[in-house]
Amino acid sequence: MSNIYNSLVESFHNELEYYDTKHKPCVVFDIDGTILVDGIYSPKNDDEIIKDVYNFLLYLQSIGIDIFIITARPESRQNRIGTIEMLRKLRINYKYLYMWNQNIFRSHIKFKEEARREIFENGYNVIMSLGDNHWDYGDYGGLGVHIHNNGDKIEYVDDFL
Ligand SMILES: [Mg+2]
Repeated sequence: MSNIYNSLVESFHNELEYYDTKHKPCVVFDIDGTILVDGIYSPKNDDEIIKDVYNFLLYLQSIGIDIFIITARPESRQNRIGTIEMLRKLRINYKYLYMWNQNIFRSHIKFKEEARREIFENGYNVIMSLGDNHWDYGDYGGLGVHIHNNGDKIEYVDDFL
């Protein structure tokens, strides 16, 4: 396993120790540029998946940590069906898939923050949020993990805490 994968696993377990046990731990993932190489709607082969992030997600699943997906893919029937099918093929199990409803949120930044808040209000601690943009983490998102350049590098961001 790679250094990035190992670092994610280790950081997750370090973070977990800081949280109370009244709330269930969970981790939030963006999709595009985070789990999938940017610009890929549904991967056709392994090269279109960001393997360190994807394998980290599978690891979390294997130890019973709940996963939430928050994507700025626009909410529509077709888009939701297509994205659910893509996640199913990748064997990604999630508690909820948040997609950007542009009738409710003009800004994708506000949409993502409100989604994290809703997760928190449902009794969860978000331990980590992973994404390739700064709006993928922040309030209610725990430790931010910025995915650079389709997984070539990651950066931990906690200076907003
Ligand atoms: Mg993204």
